[in-house]
Amino acid sequence: MNEELVTIFSIKHYAIHDGPDIRTTVFLKGCPLSCWWCHNPEGLNHRIELIRNLEKCIGCRECVSGCEPAALSFVERKLVKDETLCTLCYSCLEICPAMVFEPTGWKTTVAEIIQEIEKDIPFFDQSGGGVTFSGGEPLMQAPQLVRLLKECGRLSIHRAVDTTLFADSKTVMEVARHAELFLVDLKLMDEDKHRLYTGVSNRMILANLAELSNSGTEIIIRIPQIPGINDDEENIKASAEFLKKLNGRISIELLPYHSSATAKYKKLNMTYPGRDIPSSSPETIKRNRSILESYGLTVLP
Ligand code: SF4
Ligand code: SF4
Repeated sequence: MNEELVTIFSIKHYAIHDGPDIRTTVFLKGCPLSCWWCHNPEGLNHRIELIRNLEKCIGCRECVSGCEPAALSFVERKLVKDETLCTLCYSCLEICPAMVFEPTGWKTTVAEIIQEIEKDIPFFDQSGGGVTFSGGEPLMQAPQLVRLLKECGRLSIHRAVDTTLFADSKTVMEVARHAELFLVDLKLMDEDKHRLYTGVSNRMILANLAELSNSGTEIIIRIPQIPGINDDEENIKASAEFLKKLNGRISIELLPYHSSATAKYKKLNMTYPGRDIPSSSPETIKRNRSILESYGLTVLP
């Protein structure tokens, strides 16, 4: 992996859901988890894939003749792609006159990202906000993330990292030295269920969270409320038992779920495992808030 370049898939200005106050959120591409409910599928793969906006296609077939490995063809007047043949050479992106192909991210430099963030300093000064590095999983590009955090620190910008904590503890603690706030996703306490619904064990995540809580870094635990998967009383009580033993400045946010990413999965030609999961119920979230508070934990509004 080239440590000079950062692969990102979005920079969001004036974000109000990625930490306290008004923030600039930088989304780093690539994630080792594959949660059924992921609403940023374009951030899962570190590689820059191509989305196809087929409604724009004018049928000129330039892309088919320009695709050397013959991954593209027309079947019943519709452009189809054989993903197994695509080498991601991006020729079709260059050739297509109708701009049907859209990259899911781009490679950039630390300096370019900092330039973008700097534009928002007046808003940070007014609101008390700052920058949030999210993903994907930002710890997957840890050397670049640390450089970004150091630069933001030099500019006295408040720094938050939105992470699953799925990384070795050395990486987590190195990043923690350069951030004021961690937003940590806590998904499931049962290890088998965690494996089933995210693709990985939760052991390293929980161990990292315990270690991070001893470091003095402020932590906001974010628990997505996925109906039928992790919003049951058993999981919430197990989460509360674990969280009440942690040290330091910890608060909790319960995040409602909506299956709003269907169109993104379709464009990416990916299966959306969460497509049939219903939206979170406000009553269940209210109940879970009460459970967490009954353990003496602070739940944010
Ligand atoms: S080059 Fe673009 S417009 Fe032409 S067939 Fe291919 S996708 Fe469609
Ligand atoms: S990226 Fe390259 S190999 Fe893949 S479909 Fe486009 S032209 Fe073909």
